[in-house]
Amino acid sequence: MSELALHGGPRTVPRDRRIPRWPDIAPEDEEAVRRVVASGRYTAASAGEKEITGLERAWAEEVGTRHCVAVSNGTTALSLALAAAGVGPGDEVIVPALSFIATAITPLHLSAVPVFADVDPVSFNVTPKAVEAAVTPRTRAIVVVHLHGLPADLDELAATADRHGLVLVEDAAQAHGARYRGRAAGSYGRVNTFSLNVSKNLPTCGEGGLVTTDDDDLHRRVRMMRQFGEVLDGTGPRSYVSHMLGWNDKPNAIQCAFTRSRLVRFHDENRIRDENVRRFLGRLAELPWLRGPDAPDDRTHAWHILRFMVDPEAFGLGPAHAGAVRATVMKALRAEGVPATHYQLMPLPGQRLFRRPPIAAVDHYRASDWPNTLAVIDGSFTIQKAHLSPKARPMLDLYADAAAKVWEHREAIAREARELDYRPPWEEAEDIAAGEFPC
Ligand SMILES: *Cc1c(COP(=O)(O)O)cnc(C)c1O
Repeated sequence: MSELALHGGPRTVPRDRRIPRWPDIAPEDEEAVRRVVASGRYTAASAGEKEITGLERAWAEEVGTRHCVAVSNGTTALSLALAAAGVGPGDEVIVPALSFIATAITPLHLSAVPVFADVDPVSFNVTPKAVEAAVTPRTRAIVVVHLHGLPADLDELAATADRHGLVLVEDAAQAHGARYRGRAAGSYGRVNTFSLNVSKNLPTCGEGGLVTTDDDDLHRRVRMMRQFGEVLDGTGPRSYVSHMLGWNDKPNAIQCAFTRSRLVRFHDENRIRDENVRRFLGRLAELPWLRGPDAPDDRTHAWHILRFMVDPEAFGLGPAHAGAVRATVMKALRAEGVPATHYQLMPLPGQRLFRRPPIAAVDHYRASDWPNTLAVIDGSFTIQKAHLSPKARPMLDLYADAAAKVWEHREAIAREARELDYRPPWEEAEDIAAGEFPC
């Protein structure tokens, strides 16, 4: 048994081994970009533009919705979706306490108020019960996130939305290609959004986003709102008449062409990733110290991010040591060359922006109000991006070897965890926040 790299032993992942590049670029992707550059048609307002409309049609078909509108990124996609659905000043929008910041910021862009719901400790998604408890007479919409690629309980959440007359919006930024009871993520809510950010499962060479809906009126409004409230149908000359409040959230033709080119490989890549990840998770399942992601039989996981809960009891320690054990194995894995990371350091309502003027007159935040989100952040680590390439399999094998090595050294890990002067990530984040921006 070789020594842990943490204690001076050899690394499991050799230093010169590179993570397979994501997105992996094919010659045809480069050709697609070159084609647009040569065409001179760069934006959704360019007459005769075909890449943007082509991507919109292809994605609507893929997801199974009547419409798709391409926009500048996944955050503007959410703002436009909420605005088109009628969310406005003073409305409340229910969002998960564990997600990317964009989910909670976008209501504020419309002077609406994000109201947070705690997540489930196993699926990491909001539960219908937590959402139900957050409904008030001012609630207008529910934004459900399929965190890390696992669809949330959409039937039950849709029933909750219907019962209270609310708009259900899927933030599917992490769930391209995931399915729930036979339907694609992003086809279920009244209006739904995707990100094409370079880090996502369906990437572009930069920033992009997509909005999907079956609703003709919402589709028309999103299209107008992405372009100053103007009608832009690509036929006649631009009228320069603004009919409603809009933004400039148009997509870029170069980026749409890149994604459209990749869409040809989307199913094959998803299938290979699914095989690679399942094999990886199968190997980890033999180790009693961590619990990997899984999908109930009625849905599929897009495996955008892999989150692993660490079991302190496997190391002979109690729940009070969950964070210390997680921090110790994370350190050990990183020393072995596994890019174990955090995804979110605190519940979203703990972000300073929500706790101070002009958003809040008084800071009412208490971390203990989000017990499940805290437990998830404290007790788990993630693998991000490294597993996305179809070529990731050999690297994932090494990561599994490293996890097995950590288990061989469980006594040393337990000893170190017990002695660790541990502070949870959200407390460390408070220090970072105070240091970066001390007022
Ligand atoms: C990435 C992401 C977004 C925002 O997408 P951008 O394209 O980066 O603006 C929104 N919600 C979730 C859950 C995300 O992961």
